[in-house]
Amino acid sequence: MRRVLVTGGAGFLGSHLCQKLLNEGNEVLCVDNFFTGRRQNISELLEYKNFELLRHDITSPLYVEVDEIYNLASPASPIHYQFDPVQTTKTSVLGAINMLGLAKRLKVKVLQASTSEVYGDPAVHPQPESYWGNVNPIGPRACYDEGKRCAETLFFDYYRQHNLQIKVMRIFNTYGPNMQANDGRVVSNFIMQALQNKPITIFGDGSQTRSFCYVSDLIDGMCRLMRTPHEVTGPINIGNPGEFTMIELANLILELTNSRSELVFRPLPIDDPKQRRPDITQARDVLGWEPKVQLREGLIKTIEYFDSQLVKEVKLFAA
Ligand code: NAD
Ligand code: UDP
Ligand code: UDP
Repeated sequence: MRRVLVTGGAGFLGSHLCQKLLNEGNEVLCVDNFFTGRRQNISELLEYKNFELLRHDITSPLYVEVDEIYNLASPASPIHYQFDPVQTTKTSVLGAINMLGLAKRLKVKVLQASTSEVYGDPAVHPQPESYWGNVNPIGPRACYDEGKRCAETLFFDYYRQHNLQIKVMRIFNTYGPNMQANDGRVVSNFIMQALQNKPITIFGDGSQTRSFCYVSDLIDGMCRLMRTPHEVTGPINIGNPGEFTMIELANLILELTNSRSELVFRPLPIDDPKQRRPDITQARDVLGWEPKVQLREGLIKTIEYFDSQLVKEVKLFAA
């Protein structure tokens, strides 16, 4: 039995990864400081005898014994990572140093949850891994984008300098159950607004695009990357190439929720990327991976999840 460390394991992606690793018969050590993670996400996992939870901030060193490391700890939505930008950069950079130091001592594989944000507001479309990106280093998104870029640098320097086994995954926008209703991301915002017949907030004119990957596909890609041989380091894009404008997304969610909400327009946040779509040629060739769940199907499952959360809230309020 392998003992697998998942940092950020109480978050959206981390909780799904922990579940999958447990299902496959691994022991899981979930490390989280609960900045954006929630006990609710892992409440069912706490029942497993192979699951262990450690409250810890990865900006501090961590001495544990494990066979594999998935480093997912970091706030991911703009309102969360901009809440304490210095801590965001520290989590990416110091967190990467500590997890790399741990992997070096233990001689184990370490996977980094990097992001499509390393491409910034991309001038190349769709984005292949060879594109170096277009990031404003001093803007309000930089704490996240540059922090993640520096973490990638550290991963590749530990690989070159210490021959560490690294796996760098560039994750594109992902959605699904266990996302936080109030994390400000577009999918959670639009669904919550639609379910409550509140106005749908389109930032800018809604012509900007994103490509949305359903969580089960993403986690499948992540685990495939971890299982690759030593020479496969990435970076590798994992995302769904289906590309939608925010207006198209809003209209689809309105249709699926049968909502009476109207669209309202709000200012576009500073440095908001205008377009984003992964080139997944490498994921196809190297991992034999491609997404299976298309947007409509994934949204239906996600809407069900948020709907059940709202029902729970109403029951709690009534009690
Ligand atoms: P999330 O906010 O739900 O989860 C992140 C988890 O990390 C939370 O449980 C949080 O409490 C924990 N955490 C934050 N700082 C920490 C610290 N210093 N020490 C220990 N734990 C800490 O976000 P998510 O969507 O699950 O994202 C997981 C990872 O994937 C992140 O690294 C994120 O950058 C990356 N990613 C996510 C997306 C996406 O669309 N969800 C896209 C690109 C990259
Ligand atoms: N580290 C850790 N756990 C370990 C080993 C190292 O958290 O099991 C941290 C340690 O605090 C160090 C960092 O990882 O600062 C980088 O480790 P490395 O061995 O690369 O550097 P050094 O210890 O030489 O500074
Ligand atoms: N967005 C929007 N309305 C919202 C929240 C977000 O129109 O209520 C837009 C946002 O400006 C961006 C896109 O949706 O263009 C995706 O935003 P999100 O924060 O989900 O992800 P990211 O910008 O990090 O890709």
